[in-house]
Amino acid sequence: MTSKKNDTRHTPAPEPFRGGASAPPAAPSRAEDAGPGGIRGIPPLGEEETARYGRHMVLPEVTLRGQLEIKRARVLIVGAGGLGSPTVLYLAAAGVGRLGIVDDDAVDLTNLQRQILYGTADVGRPKIDAAIARIRDLNPNVTVIPHRTRLTRENALDVLSGYDVVVDGSDNFPTRYLVNDACAVLGKPDVYGSVFRFEGQASVFGLADGPCYRCLYPEPPPPGVVPSCAEAGVLGVLPGIIGSIQAAETIKLIIGRGEILKGRLLLFDALVMKFRELKVPKNPACPVCGPQRTTRELPDYEDFCDAPAGPSATPEITPRELKARLDAGGDTLVIDVREPHENRICRLDALLIPLAEIPSRLDDLDRSRDIVVYCRTGIRSAAAVAFLTQAGFTRVWNLRGGILAWADEIDPTMPKY
Ligand SMILES: [Zn+2]
Repeated sequence: MTSKKNDTRHTPAPEPFRGGASAPPAAPSRAEDAGPGGIRGIPPLGEEETARYGRHMVLPEVTLRGQLEIKRARVLIVGAGGLGSPTVLYLAAAGVGRLGIVDDDAVDLTNLQRQILYGTADVGRPKIDAAIARIRDLNPNVTVIPHRTRLTRENALDVLSGYDVVVDGSDNFPTRYLVNDACAVLGKPDVYGSVFRFEGQASVFGLADGPCYRCLYPEPPPPGVVPSCAEAGVLGVLPGIIGSIQAAETIKLIIGRGEILKGRLLLFDALVMKFRELKVPKNPACPVCGPQRTTRELPDYEDFCDAPAGPSATPEITPRELKARLDAGGDTLVIDVREPHENRICRLDALLIPLAEIPSRLDDLDRSRDIVVYCRTGIRSAAAVAFLTQAGFTRVWNLRGGILAWADEIDPTMPKY
C-alpha cells in the first residue's frame, strides 16, 4: 500500500508536466506532433512573439521548442511580495503562458523598498490588480490568473492542482509548510526561496526522489520565535537575487534543461557576498514525502499559525556564559539538536541528537547534569528545552542565538550557514 501511495504522489497531473531535471529528455517526435516547430495544443509563435523571445530562442538549450514549452507552462506564484516581484516579472517577460498569483494584500509604502513589481502610484491598491496591470504592460501574451485569497489548508490542493510549477514566495512558516505539503501530495515542484536580513536560501522541493522542505526542517518553529522581516529587517535587493534564482529554476524546470537545485540548499550571504551549498538528503522518515505517508490530508496549519506567541519562558544561556562555563571545566552536557548534515559544517564539542530523536533518547541523558542545548539559531533547541523541561529535566538551558551567535561572539573562524 505504501508504495502505491508513493507512486500516486509522483503521478503527473492529467495534463502532464514534462519538464524537470529528473524528467527524461523530450522525445524529438513531440515537436513534429503539430507540424514543424510546433507542440501539440500550442499554436506556433506569432511574429511579435518570435521577435520578443528571440534572445531565448537563439540559446541551443531553449530554441523554439523551449519557448513553446514556456508558453504552454502554468506557474503559480504564492505571494506577490519581495520574492514574488522579480519572479512574476521575469516569468512574465519570459512568456510563461499562464501565471497564477495568490495574494490578498494591498500595496503598502513600506513594500516599495524591495517589491519592485509596484510603484508609488500603486500604494493602497490590491497587489493583484497592480500586478495584472504591470504584467499586461510588460507582456500582453501572458494570461494572469488571480487568486485573491490566502492559501489555506482548505483551498491549497484546489488552487495548486491547476499548475505545473509552484513558486513559494511566502514570508511566513504556515504558508511555507502548506505549500511544501500540498506540492508533496500533488507531486508538483515547489520552487522555494526565503530571505532574512542579509541572507537568503533557495532550493527546489517536491521532485521525484528529491527531498521536501520537511526533510530539511521537519517541524515549524514555535510561533513567535522567528522574527518577521518587518521586525528583523531585510536588505531590499536580497529578495531580488533569491527571487531571480527561483525564476531561473522555474524556467529550467519548464524546458527540462540544466541541473536543478534538487537535494541542494543554496545559501547566500549578501554581506560577505558568498554562495554556499548544503546537500539535503531525502528523509526516508519524512511525514510528508516519505513512504509512510498514508493520507492526502494536510495538517492543521492554524494550530501553529494562530497559537499565541508570548514571550519565551525558555531558560537561556548566552554564548559568552556558556564559554565561561566550559572554560571553567564545569560538568555541562552540550547537546546539538540539528541534523547530521548541519553538524558536519560546524559544531561545538557536543552530543548530537537531532530534535526529532530527543523523545526516544531521554534515557541516554543524565538528569543530574547541567544541559545546554543548541541548534542553528536557537529555535529548534528552544523546542528541545521545552520538551526536556516537560519531561522533568530541571537544569536545561537554550543557547541563545544558536551556533550562529557562537560564531559571531566567540569563534569568528567557525563556518556559518
Ligand atoms: Zn520530505
